[in-house]
Amino acid sequence: MKFSWKTLILWSLPVLIVGFFLWQGFYTPNSSNEQNISSSKMTYGRFLEYLDLGWIKKVDLYDNGHTAIVEAIGPELGNKTQKIRVELPILNSELITQLKKAHVDLDAHPQKMNNSFIGIIGNLFFPIIFILGLIFLFQRSNNSGNNTGSSMSFGKTRSQVQVEMNTGVLFDDVAGIEEAKEEFKEIVTFLKCPESFTAVGARIPKGILLLGPPGTGKTLLAKAIAGESGVPFFNISGSEFVEMFVGVGASRVRDLFKKAKKNAPCIVFIDEIDAVGRQRGAGVGGGNDEREQTLNQLLTEMDGFEGNTGIIVIAATNRSDILDSALLRPGRFDRQVMVNVPDFKGRLAILSVHARDKKISKDLSLEMIARRTPGFSGADLANLLNEAAILTARQRKSFISIYEIDVAIDRVIAGMEGTALIDSKSKRLIAYHEIGHAIVGTLLEQHDLVQKVTLIPRGQAKGLTWFLPSEEQSLISRTQILARIMGALGGRVAEEVVFGDTEVTTGASNDLQQLTSLSRQMVTRFGMSNIGPFSLESQRSNPFLGRSMGMKTEYSDTIATNIDAQVQAIIQNCYENTVQIIKNNRPIIDYLVDILIEKETITGEELRQLVAEYTVLPKKVSYASRL
Ligand code: ADP
Ligand code: MG
Ligand code: ZN
Repeated sequence: MKFSWKTLILWSLPVLIVGFFLWQGFYTPNSSNEQNISSSKMTYGRFLEYLDLGWIKKVDLYDNGHTAIVEAIGPELGNKTQKIRVELPILNSELITQLKKAHVDLDAHPQKMNNSFIGIIGNLFFPIIFILGLIFLFQRSNNSGNNTGSSMSFGKTRSQVQVEMNTGVLFDDVAGIEEAKEEFKEIVTFLKCPESFTAVGARIPKGILLLGPPGTGKTLLAKAIAGESGVPFFNISGSEFVEMFVGVGASRVRDLFKKAKKNAPCIVFIDEIDAVGRQRGAGVGGGNDEREQTLNQLLTEMDGFEGNTGIIVIAATNRSDILDSALLRPGRFDRQVMVNVPDFKGRLAILSVHARDKKISKDLSLEMIARRTPGFSGADLANLLNEAAILTARQRKSFISIYEIDVAIDRVIAGMEGTALIDSKSKRLIAYHEIGHAIVGTLLEQHDLVQKVTLIPRGQAKGLTWFLPSEEQSLISRTQILARIMGALGGRVAEEVVFGDTEVTTGASNDLQQLTSLSRQMVTRFGMSNIGPFSLESQRSNPFLGRSMGMKTEYSDTIATNIDAQVQAIIQNCYENTVQIIKNNRPIIDYLVDILIEKETITGEELRQLVAEYTVLPKKVSYASRL
């Protein structure tokens, strides 16, 4: 068994208790021991008389001088030394001089004192051990509380603030978010030499809010500021503030700032600030007191220190829309810096940062990877290169090649690869479904290019058709959206045309969801329907996150009916077109399905070649040709 103080104490407690009573029994102060020896007594008056007569030989004082055992000898006592007990009213100095004069052997026995001292210790012994034991147990559970969050521990001792004295991250490690970096260079200068700012009376912002989707490098950037300026980095997550006990959040904030002040200049980084900084008094079921207290404490602390103390609070969130406006007031997080998902150039820069420590084959250009990964965040890209490196190592190759990158991209986007189905009716149906997507995507001019079609399952999907999204994702034309709707319909329509109405499967549910949402947005957000150029719905947000709660309908019932009709009309129209495409191209579809079942994967290039032999392809900008 492992040695543990706790068990030791627990086991020793009964032993100590039993021992204590035995010990008390043995050592019970018994001051009357000696007095009992002499059974005879005499009065104080008689004692003085004997003293005058010179019969008293020895006086032993007990009991603080209240009792005396007297040895006396005299004719009245039969000329034999006798021990007699005398109760003394008071031990006055007069009596002592008198005793001295009579050459009486005087002795005092502070035995009672002695006994009572041991008694006191004895009485305290048990409680002391008990209290020590309790203290020990508390300490232990406090320590373990640090790891397990046990409810035995409170507040302060287990604050989750992480401090890094040197983050080791530099601006060079952060790429692709140049504007944000520029903003921060000034902060670094301030932290390095505050005098140049204070001399001219400049007030440096206390709080900076980093806004951006997850994985774009907000934490990394904050660390880089600390690393570049060589100051400590205090890191706490908003969700950690708000925990089990009411009041703990506020005390953590206090604790955090106390520590920060001791270590100034420094960076305090609050991740996920939306967890505490959410609009107060919003949301379902009233406010959360604990959160509001924490937020109030945070505001108080931020107001409490002057601008130039050298503490800079950096907070990160991906939801600035729900932040409490009090947080954004001047003197708090008055600077906001957007960190966006990187564009092509950004991705290239991030890839080169993460490729620094990796061995990459010469014929693999980072540019090509950057082009194939629109929409990837910095974290996705880092993850992608890492996956590729792992695959490379697993195959005992020494350089990462295009093959590993390909596999890794697919894995990052769609999850792990499964094993292919054996040839069966359902495999044929899936093949038709995927080729349906692919053929519509290839024949519509405005559709994204098909990158590959595969029957190898991945994640939830039984088969997949990959498209190369174009770089420009923020401005999409009406024709492009319609093309996407038709592309999404391609799978289901192919099933229907080939196998008949009764055989269609649930496999299309995802496609249907996507195309319905697209067509609805055309009507309600993009003004692309007969209803006209109105915005009828704001982007949906989670009702649990406050504010947008009550904004359900902004239009009349007539318009609602109208919206539904328009959404339906768009989809119906697209559906008819798609059926035409599938029916008109049936021979090539059958041919492609056979190839797909045999090969399991057809690349975009192969697909286009096969289709081109059979029909005239629309002109498209080909990203593939650049790969
Ligand atoms: P966020 O805090 O925005 O969610 P992180 O800063 O935690 O994102 O990013 C996670 C990881 O992704 C980083 O540690 C880094 O390896 C990588 N990364 C993200 N953005 C970048 C970037 N702009 N430059 C370099 N690496 C990045
Ligand atoms: Mg982060
Ligand atoms: Zn599909």
